[in-house]
Amino acid sequence: MSKAFIPYSCQLIEEDDIEAVVRVLRSEWLTQGPDIEAFEKNVATYCKSPHAVAVSSATAGLHLACMALGIGEGDLVWTSPLSFAASANCARYVGAEVDFVDIDSDTGNMCVSALKTKLEMAEKTGRLPTCVIPVHYAGRACDMPAIHALKEQYKFSLIEDAAHALGGRYGDGTPVGCNPASDMAVFSFHPVKPITTGEGGMVTTHNPELAERLRQLRTHGITRDTAKLQKKNRPAWYYEQQSLGYNYRITDMQAALGSSQMAKLDRFIDRRRALAERYLTLLKSLPLMLPLPDRHSGWHLYAVRIDPSRTQTTRDEVFATLRAQNIGVNVHYMPIHWQPYYQSLGFKEGQFPKAEAFFNQELSLPMHPRLSDKDQDFVAQTLANALT
Ligand SMILES: *Cc1c(COP(=O)(O)O)cnc(C)c1O
Repeated sequence: MSKAFIPYSCQLIEEDDIEAVVRVLRSEWLTQGPDIEAFEKNVATYCKSPHAVAVSSATAGLHLACMALGIGEGDLVWTSPLSFAASANCARYVGAEVDFVDIDSDTGNMCVSALKTKLEMAEKTGRLPTCVIPVHYAGRACDMPAIHALKEQYKFSLIEDAAHALGGRYGDGTPVGCNPASDMAVFSFHPVKPITTGEGGMVTTHNPELAERLRQLRTHGITRDTAKLQKKNRPAWYYEQQSLGYNYRITDMQAALGSSQMAKLDRFIDRRRALAERYLTLLKSLPLMLPLPDRHSGWHLYAVRIDPSRTQTTRDEVFATLRAQNIGVNVHYMPIHWQPYYQSLGFKEGQFPKAEAFFNQELSLPMHPRLSDKDQDFVAQTLANALT
């Protein structure tokens, strides 16, 4: 008898989540209603950030974050090569050039000393980045104090791609998204992420002007705020489109689901932390490089690496063996600069060797709050068999 598929990640939806969505369906407001503001307040409070702007996805949030900062043609944006394409695509949407900073192999996050070296060289050639987008890989926060010090020195703006990291904490224990030294942090609510709204995203910021720009840009660049209208003394129907924005709004159904899920975030994260501790015990004798323990990580992914010095078995062989057993392992990520689109812009294999080596060895094991101890034991046992 074949076992049920065990995904690497998935949503956990309960009866009260469903009721929250149904309540909105029975109400007057399906979109642009009060549930969106309530969801924004929930996330802002949790993240200890004065402003949170809900959008239709993290990808939309990253795009608007770049627009709100005024990034455009002639600008240069640096991000991590070990990420989802959206971390780099947002810069391309606004016409900026993209480059990458190699990772720290211990964490998968942008390497601070590589960033420092690259900034020193860029200063000499007069091509400093306008903006840097570090990614909190797998839910583990980047070394933000060190990155903020470089931001101060080199005057770039900073967007945290926190798509993995809702519920995670920085090194000082404060919640990801609360950081006044960053311009913005962007979260994702795709079903594999820490909480879900189906599709959805949120941008947190300490800067009220950025928050206002995000709000306007997510709804076509339109404002109805009489204080902001360029033409005064207009009738009540009057509104102005003051810039070129998009429809990047979230719906009230999604926002109600998001608020319901926010109430469970700490429980979800606790379960992820417990699973990470169990993996550490279950896998410690295998020829793997396990993620470093981290009591602050949100553990979006449990990313192990096959240690080539201790086994002949390749990642792709292990991947195929586990998939054949209905275990939904995955790979995060093929480096962005290996994607054909980025190669067409001139990037080549070999340019960011640490991200490439990490990718070649990486396997994301099932890690989500619905994963039972029993299924986790099965994953560990199947992995042990595959490696010996
Ligand atoms: C999922 C993800 C995104 C995009 O999120 P969406 O909500 O699906 O648009 C961006 N960056 C990273 C690192 C992600 O994992």
